[in-house]
Amino acid sequence: MKDTQQNILIIGAGLCGSLLALRLAQRGFNVNVYEMRPDLRKVDISAGRSINLAFSDRGNKAMKLIGLEDRVKALCIPMNGRMIHDIHGNTFQSNYSGRDYEYINSISRGDLNALLLDEAEKHDKVNIQFNSKCKSVNFENTTALFKDYITKKEFIEDADVIIATDGAGSALRKSYYLGKKFLFSFSQAYLTHGYKELSILPKPNGDFKTYKNALHIWPRGSFMLIALPNLDGSFTVTLFLSYEEGQYNFNNLTTEERVLEFFQNEFPDALALMPNLLEDFFTNPTSPLGTIKCSPWHYKGNTLLMGDAAHAIVPFYGQGMNASFEDVVELDQVLDQDLKDWETIFKTYESNRKKDTDAIADLAIDNFHEMKGHVNQAIFQEKRKLEMALEKEFPNEYASKYSLVTFNEHIGYREAMLKGRAQDKAILNLLTDGLITSNDDLKLVLNRVKQETEAILEDDRIAGLT
Ligand SMILES: Cc1cc2nc3c(=O)[nH]c(=O)nc-3n(C[C@H](O)[C@H](O)[C@H](O)COP(=O)(O)OP(=O)(O)OC[C@H]3O[C@@H](n4cnc5c(N)ncnc54)[C@H](O)[C@@H]3O)c2cc1C
Repeated sequence: MKDTQQNILIIGAGLCGSLLALRLAQRGFNVNVYEMRPDLRKVDISAGRSINLAFSDRGNKAMKLIGLEDRVKALCIPMNGRMIHDIHGNTFQSNYSGRDYEYINSISRGDLNALLLDEAEKHDKVNIQFNSKCKSVNFENTTALFKDYITKKEFIEDADVIIATDGAGSALRKSYYLGKKFLFSFSQAYLTHGYKELSILPKPNGDFKTYKNALHIWPRGSFMLIALPNLDGSFTVTLFLSYEEGQYNFNNLTTEERVLEFFQNEFPDALALMPNLLEDFFTNPTSPLGTIKCSPWHYKGNTLLMGDAAHAIVPFYGQGMNASFEDVVELDQVLDQDLKDWETIFKTYESNRKKDTDAIADLAIDNFHEMKGHVNQAIFQEKRKLEMALEKEFPNEYASKYSLVTFNEHIGYREAMLKGRAQDKAILNLLTDGLITSNDDLKLVLNRVKQETEAILEDDRIAGLT
């Protein structure tokens, strides 16, 4: 696309929208962004869902693209692994990778969004209007209807192209669905579990109350608690729990006594760090978790869905934001191809990208089950130990599924999923059948795992699963 005099309208100035605005401006386009919330740099509002996020290599690939890698690094707290807390308060750390240089980071959603907005606004060609909610999009005319929350007036904006990065409740996606003008497929699947954010405040001197450089997990089979560190010495704690099932659930945790009883029974060591638990619990909302898939993402060359608006996923792989950032990198690569019109650009982008966002959506559900349950089971711990040893001993030859997804940003999520799942199956089969153990020679283990993985992938190919 050589004609950069075009006007691009972006709906939503969250993580994906602000990055997209900046990148398109760097490419020379005129960009108008409309955001329904007030400017988070001026008004003290929570930046939306989840105060902090796990930021990793796919997201960082986008930061490299826009030249902000170092500025973002300064906002990050490295987390080298999971710190698992059992019911007795014992802890053990399970690293994310056997390679020391591979780790994930905790980052504040608000700080990251503010940085991207600041950098986008430095470009003359970017204009961001806050307090403007998109109500609907006329995708045939490429116009959008907004309501200004300050003046209460409605107005219509025209553009050459409209890109919606307005998150899981996207107005454009709703307009596609309600418009019934083309064959639009859409699915939304909720988990039976919701989440609630809580906190561990810093010590009076500002220090962290527990180990800083890890993602803490209290896995309890059918529910779990996690905690990620913040730069101010606090942790944001998230409880993932069923709405209805089990002895304790969100629907029956309605009194202070019952919430305390639940934490005393299930998370006593966390409770000791959370004197503010009850206030947090009864102030903060309980929110649902779901996966949204849809297609097509674009209507002709007029409109396009990106980020959560196109593919919202559950948070258990820590990849929703990373995938949304990677969307921008992928679109940028398609723009590099100098294709003739927006329709061809959007089509090419979607056909490259959708298989990968479908894959991470499925992987994120798998990880929900792994995190709340499997991380505590002996066979999974043995598998993890073996994989760590393989990654350490053969850093260029072995990468676990987690590493393939999180640290191998040069391959797509789908490739990572297919290989990673086959490897998991291979190791678990070999361990169960006693064909490998953690005491065996590692070269032998590597060769067995590779052979078994190849055999599984070959079966999958024959069965048409790949
Ligand atoms: C509990 C939880 C934990 C998570 N943890 C992680 C993690 O650790 N790592 C990770 O990578 N991802 C994580 N995610 C996922 C991540 O939050 C999302 O994938 C990411 O925010 C998507 O960015 P986005 O810009 O597409 O959408 P959003 O961040 O939702 O931004 C959408 C923007 O559009 C605005 N908007 C919405 N509707 C309109 C409208 N009609 N008109 C105008 N503006 C509008 C919103 O105000 C917002 O600013 C988590 C999600 C949840 C729920």
